[in-house]
Amino acid sequence: MVIGFRSFGDVLDALYANNVAVGKEGQVMRDYFIANGISIPLELSNETLGRYFYFEAVDYGTESILRIRYNGIIGLELSQLGISLEAFLENLAYDEQIDVSGLTGKAKCIYEKLLTLSEGFRKAIQKFDGEFPVSHLKFEINNTLPVGNYGITKPPEGYNITIEMSNNQLANISDIGGAVAIAHEVIHAEIYRKMLSAAQKGDLNLGQYTTQNRIDFMNSLRDDFPGLYDYYWERYHPTWNHNLMAQHYRSIIADIAQQFDNNLQDRQVYEDIAWAGLRVLEVGINSIAWDNLTNTEQQRILTNLSNFFHNGSNRCN
Ligand SMILES: [Zn+2]
Repeated sequence: MVIGFRSFGDVLDALYANNVAVGKEGQVMRDYFIANGISIPLELSNETLGRYFYFEAVDYGTESILRIRYNGIIGLELSQLGISLEAFLENLAYDEQIDVSGLTGKAKCIYEKLLTLSEGFRKAIQKFDGEFPVSHLKFEINNTLPVGNYGITKPPEGYNITIEMSNNQLANISDIGGAVAIAHEVIHAEIYRKMLSAAQKGDLNLGQYTTQNRIDFMNSLRDDFPGLYDYYWERYHPTWNHNLMAQHYRSIIADIAQQFDNNLQDRQVYEDIAWAGLRVLEVGINSIAWDNLTNTEQQRILTNLSNFFHNGSNRCN
């Protein structure tokens, strides 16, 4: 049934339905926001605005009113999440250079919630942003990852690092488990980013480097990122980066999880679930950091992983 247009609101609603022209939609939104005294960060593109908000004409009998609505996380309004519009727009600006257009379902929901709620996550993501980033970050979905593999971070190619997340596997864990899984992959990407910056190259295919390039790479790595160099070179093992993460990055993952969860649990819970993926490196081999724990600590971590990572609140589906 065609009901015709009664107002400008109806026109905008129809014109920009189904994300057909997010850039133009975002341009109109930008003007509308600014006209209403809301400041928009300069880095925030019209495309992003158009992707995260939509026009809605609300019917009031003989007339309709235009609203701009947020493409909500888990169906909640920004106000219900206790987030101001300005703060949210500020956060969105961090997201500019990161390609999340391939994200869907639970991975998308958790990513957006992370970006909105966790300062630690935004900071980690922000390093891939900026005018001269060493590397660009891209998220995709890969639902064919093996059981228990929630995500994978591919080695850099042409200055791009791609993180693939599996919605099939994320379905088996809690929302906060998913947040830990995404943070875990972002740390992998961050380690690659540091290596690219030491190599001054867009990939880490050392076989194709010249001998001098390889020497320069190792020297920069040792000077700029000694902890990384230690695990990558001095104590090399095929799963070296999980050893490195278990030793040096768990508290960052815990910070991100804690902010994502609004401090609902004791700090210990977040520290413990950050161990996901960092205990067992391969069949029969544990990480060095895990083997250094007492039996009591290991048991507490396993219990918290079971209660909060594998089970627990699940609203992002
Ligand atoms: Zn990993």
